[in-house]
Amino acid sequence: MSFGIDDLPVRDELRGKSPYGAPQLDVPVRLNTNENPYPLPEPLVERIAERVREAARGLNRYPDRDAVELRTELAKYLTKTGGHRVGVENVWAANGSNEVIQQLLQAFGGPGRTAIGFEPSYSMHALIARGTGTGWISGPRGEDFTIDLPAARRAIAEHKPDVVFITTPNNPTGNAVAPETVLALYEAAQAAKPSMVIVDEAYIEFSHGASLLPLLAGRPYLVVSRTMSKAFGAAGLRLGYLAAHPAVVDAVQLVRLPYHLSAITQVTALAALEHTDTLLKYVEQLKCERDRLVAELRAIGYAVTESDANFIQFGRFTDAQAAWRQILDRGVLVRDNGVPGWLRVTAGTPAENDAFLDAVRDLKKEQE
Ligand code: PMP
Repeated sequence: MSFGIDDLPVRDELRGKSPYGAPQLDVPVRLNTNENPYPLPEPLVERIAERVREAARGLNRYPDRDAVELRTELAKYLTKTGGHRVGVENVWAANGSNEVIQQLLQAFGGPGRTAIGFEPSYSMHALIARGTGTGWISGPRGEDFTIDLPAARRAIAEHKPDVVFITTPNNPTGNAVAPETVLALYEAAQAAKPSMVIVDEAYIEFSHGASLLPLLAGRPYLVVSRTMSKAFGAAGLRLGYLAAHPAVVDAVQLVRLPYHLSAITQVTALAALEHTDTLLKYVEQLKCERDRLVAELRAIGYAVTESDANFIQFGRFTDAQAAWRQILDRGVLVRDNGVPGWLRVTAGTPAENDAFLDAVRDLKKEQE
């Protein structure tokens, strides 16, 4: 018998678990991980190469531990686009927003503490909770996938969680959370504990509505988390960031590993930020494609959850897993997030979206 993971003294809560990850299958059309389908523009690729070459000369030294230049530029981006003044002291950055969330749970969660999310939502919140020893509470959502406010309030009052996650636009359902709902949940969380409220805005640039950054004013327990993986089309870069009261930035510094952001990551992100205007033009194109997909899916006869993101939840299927496989057999990879009856598709290039629409049209005909 071969030696395996179960023979190791892994923590009890990790036993029998599988690592997170969508299948990375080699098919012609991959619309399963909410990436931006457009490669970075060539002038930006050149600029990255230039800045990395420069940084390479200093790789004998550790990078700027506090990533001050990068945080300053991220603060400028947020101030310009978010309708709220954000300074370097309000911003923290890490390797993807997953790491930002991990650092937040290391600082505010941990053994003996709990976090709540309203599910279905981004499953990494629960997994990072597990990894940091934080207890997880699965909060309720309504039939239409909006947050059921009275039920959510009751859950917060009952469990008194240390951390509350609100994902807007939500993944995998695509719908945004109304600012009034966020405010009401913030009030409920403060009345119960007070607890930290983390608003995960990974997809906010694709939203019809505005960012919740202005809510940060006078709310020191609120954190807005962002990423360059989606709107900036830089999932491979691994750069996430947060905006919050400076005290929150002080708190995450207690748990971050020293020099966690490599010099290469920092200069690459800075180069991308120099090209913000060009990159955000792709966001406009993707929003149009998203809206086209919604309209066409409905015309074919599918149900669609209102989408403020670069992806769409569609259904309903009696067997979502079988439908996922049938779409894959037609050369298109979408995502089965385990929401019964529903699948998720990421908006791709017009050609990729056409291939997807052909596949689901075909599937519908077959089912009739
Ligand atoms: N939050 C949400 C809601 C997401 O969907 C994702 C990525 N799928 C992330 C955070 C993490 O993104 P990253 O680590 O690439 O910044």
